[in-house]
Amino acid sequence: MEMYSCFSIKLFKAFRKARRHVALVRRRVFDRKNLALLAFLPTTTTTGAAAWIVTMSVSGGLTLARRAVEAVRRTPRWQKRLLVLTVGAGSLTYACQDNQVLQINDGTGKKRVVIVGTGWAGASFLRNIDTSLYDVHVVSPRNYFTFTPLLPSVTCGTVEARSIVEPIRNIVRKRGGAFRFWEAECYKIDPTNKKIHCKSDNGTNIDGNGDFVVDYDYLIVSVGARPNTFNTPGVVENCHFLKEVEDAQKIRKSVMKCFERASLPNLTEEERKKNLHFVIIGGGPTGVEFAAELHDFVNEDLAKLYPDVKKYVNISVIEAGDHILTMFDKRITQFAEDKFKRTGIDLKTNFKVVKVTDKAITMTNSATGEIAVPYGMAVWSTGIGTRPIIMDFMKQVGQANRRVLATDEWLRVHGCDDVYALGDCATITQRKVMGFHDLLKDSEGNAIKELKELDIEEFKKALARVDSQVKMLPATAQVASQEGAYLANCFNRMKYCEENPEGPLRIRGTGRHRFKPFRYRHLGQFAPLGGEQTAAQLPGDWIHVGHSTQWLWYSVYASKQFSWRTRMLVVSDWGRRFIYGRDSSSL
Ligand SMILES: Cc1cc2nc3c(=O)[nH]c(=O)nc-3n(C[C@H](O)[C@H](O)[C@H](O)COP(=O)(O)OP(=O)(O)OC[C@H]3O[C@@H](n4cnc5c(N)ncnc54)[C@H](O)[C@@H]3O)c2cc1C
Repeated sequence: MEMYSCFSIKLFKAFRKARRHVALVRRRVFDRKNLALLAFLPTTTTTGAAAWIVTMSVSGGLTLARRAVEAVRRTPRWQKRLLVLTVGAGSLTYACQDNQVLQINDGTGKKRVVIVGTGWAGASFLRNIDTSLYDVHVVSPRNYFTFTPLLPSVTCGTVEARSIVEPIRNIVRKRGGAFRFWEAECYKIDPTNKKIHCKSDNGTNIDGNGDFVVDYDYLIVSVGARPNTFNTPGVVENCHFLKEVEDAQKIRKSVMKCFERASLPNLTEEERKKNLHFVIIGGGPTGVEFAAELHDFVNEDLAKLYPDVKKYVNISVIEAGDHILTMFDKRITQFAEDKFKRTGIDLKTNFKVVKVTDKAITMTNSATGEIAVPYGMAVWSTGIGTRPIIMDFMKQVGQANRRVLATDEWLRVHGCDDVYALGDCATITQRKVMGFHDLLKDSEGNAIKELKELDIEEFKKALARVDSQVKMLPATAQVASQEGAYLANCFNRMKYCEENPEGPLRIRGTGRHRFKPFRYRHLGQFAPLGGEQTAAQLPGDWIHVGHSTQWLWYSVYASKQFSWRTRMLVVSDWGRRFIYGRDSSSL
């Protein structure tokens, strides 16, 4: 009994002490000033959450929680909201911190896969590779993935730049995987020694050296392509390109500068016209989409803001061929050309740009000869060329006379072990050589089981079938991302497929190939033409142009976003544009 009462007294004292302590903590935490301070500290988001968690655990758990609830009840509503916001955002930030979650695996015993490039092909590979099976390293000069189909929308502020990029570390972290990322440019591939040489602009060591070397067991080359200028003089110095996020941001700024310059009081009419002459060189999907975006921006937003100069605006599209959008069905080409004419976009087909200076663009045409037109801003969008690193690599592997790296149907670079190339920097060749057994089919496609003699005409037909399939895949995001996913899937099943090969019979050697070859599935393509109208060419030769297709475009591009975060951002940007219009600040 005595022992019991002694224990009770001790417990009571401990309880009183805990209460005093809790009251003190409560006063400190919920003191008005501290609350405000807590809310406005620059690091509140993370520290707020951390402080909250630490305080909770140290100061007597349940009692503090009860008292905290009471205190919150007594706190004015705005403070409560502020606190909830702070703690919520803090917890979110805490949860999203990369280095907290990323456990770098040194890959002991694992083969090292090095991915070069974080575009559609590289990011798709990274997203699908099982990082527990490989020691994955990524090298790219940009630490994010860009959703390129929406770049034209960034040029006019329809969508913000940050809404279409996904930090590359997020892609793996979300799946709980581990990898290493190096923000650097790879400038040389050394397939003999299985190394890549990289250079970082971002950080140098104590000797001022940003160079480093990465060893690989498997190399995934996905560096994409660069804009092709066809060595036209003055293009690099005077034209904008539309390939990267930075390009789109520069164009946006430049458009606004042209409007502001044209509005200055000391300009002649000619000078105003020059400043507001926007020239797009190249009538492919990117050039056409940008022209349409710009036209919408001018008519829907800028015309109201710059009423004095709107009459001087001129948008020209210059195309060397007979038509624009030649990769689309003729009906789409026709519709686009008619629409451009109707809306006042000056379409110049059969004009070849031969020189660009800071004042004028010189072009030739068989009817007019050489003409020079003054311009305010020019965007060069005439297709893609080879990156220097790829040119150098092609020389090393005996492909010097090619434009892009040649791979087999398993995306392995010809003449080079353990190097794979995907996306815009590569193309698949010898498409059906491996499927030689396809030749042994009759013209209806049925297998000829007992082939005694091959008729020469049948053989020619079979070869023609083969030739028809030896087409280069288009340089599109669709191809690049499907290639990335296919290859990652092969890597994930490498061990299983060594023992249970699922590919076709080998022509050279015995047995089967480990994997089925890559097959591209075309899902269709869109060409936004402005004025809330889009042309769509979908599988099954389904062609549609109009407002309803624009909504299809919105839903497809929203669904194709890399994450829910970017999806929400893009959709809210579209909503913002509908309600408030595009932002015309020259930021
Ligand atoms: C404006 C625009 C609109 C487009 N619209 C569409 C569309 O609507 N639909 C469609 O299917 N396709 C579209 N495309 C095409 C599509 O973007 C490309 O086909 C696709 O990006 C190719 O993917 P990739 O991974 O090969 O190259 P990219 O996506 O270009 O990525 C290349 C990556 O390599 C990195 N890199 C470059 N050099 C080095 C180096 N030396 N070392 C390391 N890393 C390097 C780059 O930083 C980048 O991360 C569009 C392209 C543009 C520019």
